[in-house]
Amino acid sequence: MKINILGTGDALATKCYNTCFALEENNKYFLVDAGGGNGILVQLEKANISLKNIESMFITHTHTDHFLGAIWIIRMIGRLYLREDFNKPFYIYGNNEVIKAIIKVCEAVLPERFNNLLGKEIKLIEVDTGNEFEILGKKLEFFDIHAKKVKQTGITIWLNKEDRFTFIGDEVCSEPTEKVVENSKWLMADAYMAGKEAEEYDPINKHSHSTVKFVAELSNRLNVKNLIMSHTVDKDLENRKRIFTEDAKKYFTGNIFVPDDLEIIELK
Ligand SMILES: [Zn+2]
Repeated sequence: MKINILGTGDALATKCYNTCFALEENNKYFLVDAGGGNGILVQLEKANISLKNIESMFITHTHTDHFLGAIWIIRMIGRLYLREDFNKPFYIYGNNEVIKAIIKVCEAVLPERFNNLLGKEIKLIEVDTGNEFEILGKKLEFFDIHAKKVKQTGITIWLNKEDRFTFIGDEVCSEPTEKVVENSKWLMADAYMAGKEAEEYDPINKHSHSTVKFVAELSNRLNVKNLIMSHTVDKDLENRKRIFTEDAKKYFTGNIFVPDDLEIIELK
């Protein structure tokens, strides 16, 4: 399985796209979050991912920078159906708040012909802690991350019998989430800022966003092998990889990934 990083920025990023990614197995894709607008279409085009090859989408929570791109995906997938260019169901996963918001926003902004597809060709699947599905031929389990802001859902995927990839969204890891993170071969977590800047700004208390130090220490303590950091401020992107990696190395002995937009990482 590969992860196609489509965006790496926080909500207000303008120099890179908002954090979202597509998991890939044999040219089939599972989209996780969609960023804040039709920039998702640009990112998919740049990543060479055809809409027809996206089998399903999962939206973690209702914040604009994760959610609004989903409306564009629904519009584009809907267009494929309406042109009879698409004949398999498209699945959208999300917690009850996400599914409710999708229905509401689509009703308000999309023509009726697109809304008529919701619940039929475009399947809306409400998920919560412990719900298991098969995605791209792998077992996937959803869990509530116990976010401080709005309800947010994470995922853990079995890459094979033993190894898991766990994504804990864009807030500081809660105690129940630690149990899911523990022994994951791969962890993807938010790391808003690095080093001294993070210490001074204190994003953990300000926005419930993690620092590099926080996720690196967490990964070390919970026996994670590979840490992917994302959802960062978009300041100094040219040096982000180096600065974040150097900082994480002080606290974590595993492999560190600070991807740029459009990077692909093989989850092996
Ligand atoms: Zn966010």
